[in-house]
Amino acid sequence: MQDTGQYLLDKPIEFLKGVGPQRSEVLKKELGIFTWLDLLQHFPFRYVDKSRIYTIREIIPGTQYIQLNGIIQKVDLIKKGRVKRLTALFADETGTIELVWFKGIQWIAKILKPNQRYTIFGKPTYYNGKLNMAHPELDFDTPENPAGAMPLEPVYPATEKLKSKGLDSRGIMKIMQNLVKQLSPPQLPENLPPWVIEQQHLSPRFEALMNIHFPENEQMLKLAQFRLKFEELFFVQLLLLQQKSLRHKRFKGLRFPEIGDLFNRFYKEQLDFPLTGAQKRVLKEIRKDLNSGKQMNRLLQGDVGSGKTVVALMCMLMAIDNQFQAAIMVPTEILAQQHDQSIREAVQELGLITALLTSSVKGKKRKEILAALMAGEIHLLIGTHALIEEEVRFKNLGIVIIDEQHRFGVAQRARLWKKNIQPPHVLVMTATPIPRTLAMTLYGDLDVSVIDEMPPGRKPVQTVHRTDSSRIRVFGFLKEQIGLGRQVYIVYPLIRESEKLDYKDLLDGYESIVREFPLPQYKVSIVHGKMKSEDKEFEMQRFIRGETHIMVATTVIEVGVNVPNASVMVIESAERFGLSQLHQLRGRVGRGADQSFCILMTGYKLSAEGKQRIRTMVETTDGFEIAEADLRLRGPGDMEGTRQSGLLDLKIADLGKDQQILQLARDIAVKLLEEDPELEQSRHRALKAYLSSKSRHQFNWSRIS
Ligand code: ADP
Ligand code: MG
Repeated sequence: MQDTGQYLLDKPIEFLKGVGPQRSEVLKKELGIFTWLDLLQHFPFRYVDKSRIYTIREIIPGTQYIQLNGIIQKVDLIKKGRVKRLTALFADETGTIELVWFKGIQWIAKILKPNQRYTIFGKPTYYNGKLNMAHPELDFDTPENPAGAMPLEPVYPATEKLKSKGLDSRGIMKIMQNLVKQLSPPQLPENLPPWVIEQQHLSPRFEALMNIHFPENEQMLKLAQFRLKFEELFFVQLLLLQQKSLRHKRFKGLRFPEIGDLFNRFYKEQLDFPLTGAQKRVLKEIRKDLNSGKQMNRLLQGDVGSGKTVVALMCMLMAIDNQFQAAIMVPTEILAQQHDQSIREAVQELGLITALLTSSVKGKKRKEILAALMAGEIHLLIGTHALIEEEVRFKNLGIVIIDEQHRFGVAQRARLWKKNIQPPHVLVMTATPIPRTLAMTLYGDLDVSVIDEMPPGRKPVQTVHRTDSSRIRVFGFLKEQIGLGRQVYIVYPLIRESEKLDYKDLLDGYESIVREFPLPQYKVSIVHGKMKSEDKEFEMQRFIRGETHIMVATTVIEVGVNVPNASVMVIESAERFGLSQLHQLRGRVGRGADQSFCILMTGYKLSAEGKQRIRTMVETTDGFEIAEADLRLRGPGDMEGTRQSGLLDLKIADLGKDQQILQLARDIAVKLLEEDPELEQSRHRALKAYLSSKSRHQFNWSRIS
């Protein structure tokens, strides 16, 4: 076998030339690099074009990373209080540029020599009209290190700790060179099937790995990137899809053959509006799952207010009609209470027994509920995550609905399956629209349904952007709305480094609002995370009942609270919120028949990205459009619900930018598994071997499902 080669890549990192025990420690700690193979998979995040040396005169605004050659003329250490910086004037035949360092000053000061010739790399910028370059890389011009020796030099991510051991980008490059020198194609056997390589014109694995570190040229680099991104996404998809089919094989799904009395009576007698086309379509999709003999794992996406709850309720009725119990799990106590109330009202006539279970249901009451669940006397349970606790057992749980999914980790989802001998059907509902590509990766094992239509007569929330100078007019508008009998939210961010400052903002804001809206005419509630939960509850309930006019709050109100009479959402320091959060907040209004408004308050100065976010909010109310914009602006790592997944530590693919490659990878994975579900064909032998070695070594797939 060709195993000898793979052993080489399995070698501990300390045995690579140039590494040794000390450096291996930081490589392990900082980058999780334990073996030669790990190092090989530490990819550059950009490349410096060293094929050409620029002149200072050629620099124009927008010039990217370039290489300059010239002489250091003068070095200055500048101190302002405790802030220090080091500057140097750098000149070539055509002009001068100032070089600046804010960090590592002592070390740089030692090696910077006036009148010495250097080749420098960096990104020029204009500061106060003057050209400068912060933290350039420096190279002495020496014979063994001539400028332009490498057409595209890799730049590796490195941390301060790595740098302190000489493993800055250059240091990493040197050990990478030592590694790459020892490799040949048999050590990196192809892991994709030949037909895929051929069909997609992919570069071979060995060639791609060589070129990703040390590209021969631009073209080879592009090919290497495409191949490695494809490979990465393909394996994620393949494993997710395999897992799904395995699950289908292992677990039989509960069958709900009856569309029974409860469902029909609810539909004909209780429901006081016609379902939208989208709601009907989704119900059909779910209905099919519930009688397929396979366990349903479905993600239901639908914008805030699109009417997911009624769909959930009707799904639960399908289960109860078939003599099963149903449960719905929501992320907060307040939401649980709201659902409890509205669901109880809706199903009372049908003679169903419901119960509410949260962590504040204690003692005798709790015991009674737990016993009734075991005995099958409760048809429908509404609860918070208290519901997944071990002690909560059902007689025969048929379906679980998880509302506002992103607050629940995947592991929690899995615990639900154990609530019945045969796992119950699971419907995950989210109002945070996730772009298709991201859903495919994060929830690749789920089927996806979308409610993409709002109930009729809903007026889109009118959104405007205002700065402090219009504050008086904004307050006037709020008074008008309150005069019409409406209620108002005013939300403050809580995301700054210093929480103390945030609370100060909130409390200052509250004071000025109380001054502007005095008693007895106006009543103002305040709710924030530092309050005791009873107090929070109490204030929320007052606002829900319409006893106060204004709700001043931090983002605790973000999720799901339903006050149809609230018609204005004012968001303070709106530039500090992410797009999906802004969208969620805006979704708190526009739930009734009246025209609603969202006012985004910001300072005058906004970053380009901040401006883009505000503009997006003003221009559209479509959650999917907003989610796509969010993904483009921030990248997937920051998106709601992705952080804890661990699935997004993709090494090279970027879910924001590589959506087409992801789609391609998924399509091919689907096709491959359709043709060869067990990977038994000889053309898939290498693939299968690679997968099993990979799952042994690297992946922690338990995180996913
Ligand atoms: P969300 O998807 O945000 O959970 P809800 O289920 O809370 O939305 O629905 C928002 C409001 O719209 C509720 O008051 C609900 O009764 C109402 N609603 C739901 N579906 C329809 C429909 N087809 N026609 C009219 N109103 C509807
Ligand atoms: Mg909802």
